[in-house]
Amino acid sequence: LRTVFSGIQPTGIPHLGNYLGALKPWVQLQNESNPRDRLLFSIVDLHAITVKQDPLLLRQWRREMFATFLAIGLDPNRSILFAQSEVPQHAEMMWLLSCFASMGYLSRMTQWKSKMSLPDNASPFDLSPESSKKKDTPALKLGLFSYPVLQAADILLYRTTHVPVGEDQAQHLEFTRELAQVFNSAYKTTIMQTPQTMLSPAKRIMSLTDPRKKMSKSDSKPQSRIMITDTKEEIQTKISKAVTDSIPGVSYDPQLRPGVSNLIEILYHLSPGNCPSPDQMANELLGTDTSPKELKGLVADAIDKELAPVRERMNEVMSKSEADIGKLLVPGIDKARGIAMPHIMKMKQEMGLWW
Ligand code: ATP
Ligand code: MG
Repeated sequence: LRTVFSGIQPTGIPHLGNYLGALKPWVQLQNESNPRDRLLFSIVDLHAITVKQDPLLLRQWRREMFATFLAIGLDPNRSILFAQSEVPQHAEMMWLLSCFASMGYLSRMTQWKSKMSLPDNASPFDLSPESSKKKDTPALKLGLFSYPVLQAADILLYRTTHVPVGEDQAQHLEFTRELAQVFNSAYKTTIMQTPQTMLSPAKRIMSLTDPRKKMSKSDSKPQSRIMITDTKEEIQTKISKAVTDSIPGVSYDPQLRPGVSNLIEILYHLSPGNCPSPDQMANELLGTDTSPKELKGLVADAIDKELAPVRERMNEVMSKSEADIGKLLVPGIDKARGIAMPHIMKMKQEMGLWW
């Protein structure tokens, strides 16, 4: 039997990359799983606060993320839906694991570097106090640096077997497996379950304004992403302005033509069964006489067709009162705590933390 865990940060309305790379696969997993499989999907708000957040906005984003869960078809009776900060065992587990996490390994992780706009080869130990006083190089906070340990805690807390995520999380999952093994060998035990990464086919949807970067909720340019609540007109405008190139026709070549290839890829993931690969879609379905402008029209229509029902359900859920939405969250919190608590107890027993 499988235990599936995944999370999303409440850092804005989810975008097409989140939807294709994570949210839609979660719903598919839920709908196709064995009824005895365990599925946990979390709003990982403790991860969101590793960078500066406005409290009112964070509160709104948490609500919108829960509304998103319901709008896309996650079912609180079937999946365990909860916010991470409401299950204190995540933070407790993080401390226990921190005592096994290697600073050297963490310093090689790319995410804290990208959140601080530093080059991939930057070292945390070069960040002098002087550099932190400059406006453009904020000091590296412990929480941002140790973020992967919290992520490992999220996963290992439930003895997760499968973690459906986009490609940007693959490195963190590798670290999670390493930590599980380090713990098991330190105590000659098998209580830590080593989880598998489940990469979705749409593993990396790129930004519309800079197709060499992934699409992100926290990108400062709203034009860089399609939000799942965008109207048909907003989708059309953003896609028509998406950065492409001046090569005539369309062809799939992510290195040479990242913008056009990203659009082909989006169309490919929204047209299930039409074509075996984005490459063949470019060659056979579109052909060389399709212009980038025509491609954009097809892409905008396909996105709108996919997102229209999500947008509608999202509006419905958001019109419910806060109390009504809150009530739906309670059972998930209880179930998550109920699984997490005995596992932490077992870990503490292994470690000598009991009477
Ligand atoms: P932030 O910019 O705040 O980090 P994000 O867009 O990266 O936001 P997360 O909440 O960090 O979103 O990630 C949620 C899930 O969405 C993860 O499984 C992640 O791998 C996936 N994901 C994020 N961006 C993309 C993308 N561009 N393409 C495919 N999957 C993605
Ligand atoms: Mg992210």
